[in-house]
Amino acid sequence: MKEQILLLVELQNIDLEIEKFMLRKVDLPKKIIRLDEKLKAVEVELAESGQRLDKLKADHKAKETALKNGIENSKKAKSRLLEVKTNKEYEATLKEIDAINEKSSGIEDEIIHILEEIDRVSEDLKVKESETTSYHSKCENEKGKLEKELSSIGSALDDVLQKRNKIRSGIKAKFLKKFDIIRDRKNGRAVVPARKEICYGCHMNIPPQMYNELQKNERLILCPHCERIIYWEDRDNDA
Ligand SMILES: [Zn+2]
Repeated sequence: MKEQILLLVELQNIDLEIEKFMLRKVDLPKKIIRLDEKLKAVEVELAESGQRLDKLKADHKAKETALKNGIENSKKAKSRLLEVKTNKEYEATLKEIDAINEKSSGIEDEIIHILEEIDRVSEDLKVKESETTSYHSKCENEKGKLEKELSSIGSALDDVLQKRNKIRSGIKAKFLKKFDIIRDRKNGRAVVPARKEICYGCHMNIPPQMYNELQKNERLILCPHCERIIYWEDRDNDA
């Protein structure tokens, strides 16, 4: 009888192992997808910074052209001053020159601002580039590990299932039936240890009489509270 109980314990352990593999099998692909998504988000952020820098550079170029045109127009207006015939015309041309110069000065301020912004975004881009590179290799590394684990689960699972079949073939049919029913009812845990008169499935006390009997390993005993198969784990003297 003791041997049958030990086999049931082994079966329980192997079922828990299988459950862990199954969970991992579902979990790993999700983790891999999450890594890909994170990496993509970081790359998108980097691309956005790059686009921002490109736009600033284009703005800068356009402003420099506008400034150049302003200077050119101002020069032309100034040369026209020499040719004006009336005072009114003179005043008007002066006003025009003033307006052009004022506009140019505004453009110069904008250029200073854009150049500062270009410096800032360039710095930011450099940092992001190096961060993205290291993050990329970190992600790939992590992904490689997860993928390796995922591909190894198949064969590991085969091994465990084989072991499980072997164990099951050594257990009497009536015990197996009981085990399966309890396992399905108790969320995968049909066999639990008992120590110091306590069932470790439900943490309730086991009557002393039953606990004594349990230690003899003469028959299959169920916890009177949670109705799982209990076995005596010889650790009553442990702290
Ligand atoms: Zn119990």
